[in-house]
Amino acid sequence: MNHPVYVSTRGQAEQLGFGDALLTGLATDGGLYCPVEFPPLPDISADLDYRDAATAIMAPFVAGTFDEAELETMVGLAYDSFRDPAVCPLIDLGGGHHLLDLSKGPTLAFKDVALQLVGRMLDAELGRRGRRATILGATSGDTGSAAIEALAGLDAVDVVILHPAGRVSDVQRRQMTTVEASNVHNLAVNGTFDDCQDLVKAAFNDRDLRDAVSLGAVNSINWARVMAQIVYYVTSARAARPDGGPVSFSVPTGNFGNVLAGWYAKQMGLAVNTLIVASNRNDVLARFFQRRALEIHQVEPSLSPSMDIQVSSNFERLLWEASGRNGARVADLLGLLRASSRAEVPADWCDRIDEAFVGYRLGDDETLQEMKRTFAESGVVIDPHTAVGVGSARRFMESDRFDGEPVITLATADPAKFPDAVEAALGERPDLPDHLADLFDRPESFDVIDNDLAVVADRLRALQHT
Ligand SMILES: *Cc1c(COP(=O)(O)O)cnc(C)c1O
Repeated sequence: MNHPVYVSTRGQAEQLGFGDALLTGLATDGGLYCPVEFPPLPDISADLDYRDAATAIMAPFVAGTFDEAELETMVGLAYDSFRDPAVCPLIDLGGGHHLLDLSKGPTLAFKDVALQLVGRMLDAELGRRGRRATILGATSGDTGSAAIEALAGLDAVDVVILHPAGRVSDVQRRQMTTVEASNVHNLAVNGTFDDCQDLVKAAFNDRDLRDAVSLGAVNSINWARVMAQIVYYVTSARAARPDGGPVSFSVPTGNFGNVLAGWYAKQMGLAVNTLIVASNRNDVLARFFQRRALEIHQVEPSLSPSMDIQVSSNFERLLWEASGRNGARVADLLGLLRASSRAEVPADWCDRIDEAFVGYRLGDDETLQEMKRTFAESGVVIDPHTAVGVGSARRFMESDRFDGEPVITLATADPAKFPDAVEAALGERPDLPDHLADLFDRPESFDVIDNDLAVVADRLRALQHT
């Protein structure tokens, strides 16, 4: 088999194999690495173990870096950390609507599915190369804890996580700041998640800094994360439709990494009718589907903080495909967006995107209503992010585009992560699982910093001397 090749969405960076794409994160031209070819899906039956499906689906993407036996070992260790033998179980809500529970990992959000694996891949690849790396990430709440959980205590990496001060939930913050490991460093930035994400991008674009501290990324711009997420689209489609018939997916969306994995599954041959992009009040994407332009507004805090994002990094990967892989035009469009907060997307790109995607938005009140309604109708407690997905699926099922095929909504977090919202909707606070029961008694450690690259750069350089 030929080794897979990864290219940047801006067309100027060198092509890489999987191992280099894994360690590089953001491409040197500011773009994101994407596979040149989509390997066809292997045969996956409805009763295949999640781990075996994961190994079979991902093997062609990692060939040349990890052989199948190495991959199988890492996959096994990653998913043994989950609290359900099915890893990502499917729950029937009735009426052809299913919930795919992605919250069974150690930090109670779907980011564990990718990061439990990617952490092991990073450690293995750095170890083989005899290298260390500084993993820098921005989090709107859940990536940070999932990255910290996956990387704490490893010899080959320091982990530096930026979160927007005061804009993540107490549970989310404590899951990051109470991990006692000398390689874990939490910085609370006076700003929004988009500011944190910009700081990470700016650090990567500073070539001297990037080389001096050997920066690596575990944000969803890292291809390996998107890749690991392809798996549960396939396994859940098979579980809902053992005959291989089509399904649609509703995905609570922020940075567009999760729903993009569904689009890759479709390119690999999975029968996917529609991918529903579910947004909260930060609805750049929902407006894009109506107006065919990207328009960045101020980020407004919502009940679903992990989706409080205006600049969805991974959307760039879809634009690149929709443009016919024209890196120069993608770079122009994103440059315009950055400069003027608005960019029209060419009609032919939009037509290609509309074939696979629709977008809906739910405000905070609608989110609480949906949490109530789902509990009343199905007895299932859902978190506010998942509620945005369930409500969007409901609207899709009432629209002209609905074809009667099953809809799978991705449940992206355990409700215990967002007790205030659950209490507001249902009048009762959910309990944390046993392994987090004493979270509020553990000591926290983090520093508050200004939204300034120079401050972040100093912190990163200082780590090289400790
Ligand atoms: C990260 C996150 C999302 C958004 O996922 P993207 O891949 O950024 O679109 C949705 N819900 C929860 C709970 C999350 O942690």
